[in-house]
Amino acid sequence: MLEEIVLKSYGRDISRCSDEELYQALLALVQREASGREIKGHKKKLYYISAEFLIGKLLSNNLINLGIYDEVEKELSAAGKSLAALEEREPEPSLGNGGLGRLAACFLDSIATLGLSGDGIGLNYHYGLFQQKFKKRKQMEVPNPWIEENGWLIPSDREFSVSFGDFDVSATMYDILVTGYENGTNRLHLFDLDSVEETIVRKGIDFDKSVIQKNLTLFLYPDDSDEAGRLLRVYQQYFMVSCGAQLIFAEAQERGSNLHDLADYVAIQINDTHPSMIIPEMIRILLSKGIEWDEAVRIVTDSCAYTNHTILAEALEKWPVAFIEKVAPNLVPIIRRLDEQVKKNCQNPAVAIIDEQERIHMAHMDMHYGHSVNGVAYLHTEILKNTELNAFYQLYPEKFNNKTNGITFRRWLLHCNHPLTVFLEKTIGGEFKKDAECLEKLLAYKEDDTVLQRLVEIKKENKHVLVQYMKQTQGIQLNEDSIFDIQIKRLHEYKRQQLNALYAIHKYLEIKSGKRPKRPITLIFGAKAAPAYVIAKDIIHLILCLQRLIEKDRDVRPYLSVVMVENYNVTKAEKLIPACDISEQISLASKEASGTGNMKFMLNGAVTLGTEDGANVEIHELVGDENIYVFGEDSDTVIARYERGDYCSRDYYEKDEDLKAAVDFIVSKKMLRIGNKTCLNRLYRELLDKDWFMTFPDYPAYAEAKERAFADYEDTRAWAQKMLVNIAKAGFFSSDRTIAQYNEDIWRL
Ligand SMILES: *Cc1c(COP(=O)(O)O)cnc(C)c1O
Repeated sequence: MLEEIVLKSYGRDISRCSDEELYQALLALVQREASGREIKGHKKKLYYISAEFLIGKLLSNNLINLGIYDEVEKELSAAGKSLAALEEREPEPSLGNGGLGRLAACFLDSIATLGLSGDGIGLNYHYGLFQQKFKKRKQMEVPNPWIEENGWLIPSDREFSVSFGDFDVSATMYDILVTGYENGTNRLHLFDLDSVEETIVRKGIDFDKSVIQKNLTLFLYPDDSDEAGRLLRVYQQYFMVSCGAQLIFAEAQERGSNLHDLADYVAIQINDTHPSMIIPEMIRILLSKGIEWDEAVRIVTDSCAYTNHTILAEALEKWPVAFIEKVAPNLVPIIRRLDEQVKKNCQNPAVAIIDEQERIHMAHMDMHYGHSVNGVAYLHTEILKNTELNAFYQLYPEKFNNKTNGITFRRWLLHCNHPLTVFLEKTIGGEFKKDAECLEKLLAYKEDDTVLQRLVEIKKENKHVLVQYMKQTQGIQLNEDSIFDIQIKRLHEYKRQQLNALYAIHKYLEIKSGKRPKRPITLIFGAKAAPAYVIAKDIIHLILCLQRLIEKDRDVRPYLSVVMVENYNVTKAEKLIPACDISEQISLASKEASGTGNMKFMLNGAVTLGTEDGANVEIHELVGDENIYVFGEDSDTVIARYERGDYCSRDYYEKDEDLKAAVDFIVSKKMLRIGNKTCLNRLYRELLDKDWFMTFPDYPAYAEAKERAFADYEDTRAWAQKMLVNIAKAGFFSSDRTIAQYNEDIWRL
């Protein structure tokens, strides 16, 4: 298969080609196979519009989905080449921050896998999210140039132009083919500004935020700590929405829509509030084509649906009217009219689109003028309905629904964990690849010692691979026989990496005092912090200081290590997750909308240590008390405490000796010798004076649950049974299930 392409392009056989030539040949092979399978001819089409698509590397995933992975691998190895080496060469596009963008990528995979007609709409950020480097135990940011001359992007010949308040720009649409697993191909459309200039980037990721014509699609979410950064975001959002709407209208009309019946031709899923301007933009276009106001509003409402991803108030976007006036002045009268309509029907200021301070609440517009509002896990949707968005739920109970997130098993099992995939196929057959619920067949082997033993061996093999990788990439030697306890996710105070770090300090002090753990423990972290998020960066600094402290300590080093993986991204996640024993999901209850990392770990046989938050609640329900470690206060308790506003972290600190010792250690002489005084002091003060995400009340229960998990790990058979149950019950979290539900309840393709 590959041989034929190679011979034709280079006139040589595989063994005589360079890795670069082979990579290019594989790219050509994938594009040829994928483009032959495009999903066409459906009347109604979905557009999943999102500012982020964290797609990860594409080569292996495409080979798997096209059903040619094994064949290609054999061809290569017969010629003395390795597919793994070619994969290493591929750059990872960083078109997303974390969970939200990764979800969009999993969804595109599942949409194509289910054979549904649905494309993604987003932006082609040249440098995407920054690459993280550690220098002096601090995070430094540098650009991630991922676009290659001959890569996955296919330029289209459709033309787009966008009118901003002060100037017009022209745009190019690039497509990435999205292959479904043994099914059709859809597309991810990424819009780019023709006049962008990469040369305006100065040191690190710094650039002139004011020259929109040159900077618009340079970076994903530029630093929004100043006004210029926030305004640039709005420019990016309108650019995406304007191009997206042009595409949607053009395609719908090509499929036969007369615009009056647009909602029969398109379903638009608005992923968080970043694309919310699609609503007034589409109304604007319909009005310009002579459709009356009421009908235009109805058409758009029937077409659009909104997904809410967070209950953190600071993340719900509110833009000053003045921003929209500058970026897209034509939308302002439309948004004002939508707002007046709302105010006429409902006097509650909590549901206004424009508030008294002349700020536009993007989510409010989505909920009034979309036909569906969904949360992303059972608990999250309940909290939306009962507290955060209760006023909207009262107005539109029929719009609210839950769609518990999911992950694509092609990437998060078949691709990242070959040994487990092969073993599962041998044990329960291959049906689970198409029908994830079939993983439950594994439960029949819960008492089968050979199966249990094999699961343990596979985990060991995966740990071995990770050990090699960490040695090669960061020069860090991990202990293969230790427990791998992993927390990888964006750095945010609500996710509480600081709680895990406090435990690490406690363990360090305990070992120092002579109390050694039965088995060595490896605490692995991986996290990027937003460039302007000071406390998050301080937490990274703390973890890197602990890493150094323990590396240099002969008493402690044999029993405990703390390791921070540099530049956590999809590629790193794929290496870390299969090697994990304990999955840290310790957000403050009520704060993590769903989480998807928790699902990836479960599927790969890690046992969750977590709070009753997000989808952890559903994991708990599925695996039962025996197969998860749940700790901490529940969401009702937390929400009630926030309402009372009487939390005082110092009370907890004074009462708990272990906790006090751990907190004080942050600013101990030992730490100040390694770390930066300002950073460590600031973090110490933040915890003592504020601790907004309530790590202290949960600390004792966390330490207790963690010790219990470590103790249980020593019973290898019982632990293997926990692994088995977690894998067997993970089927529910396939994004194929999630997408089938979106389609059933919202899109109706
Ligand atoms: C899955 C994933 C996330 C989301 O992780 P959570 O633990 O759910 O926050 C973030 N980043 C990357 C690279 C991922 O693969």
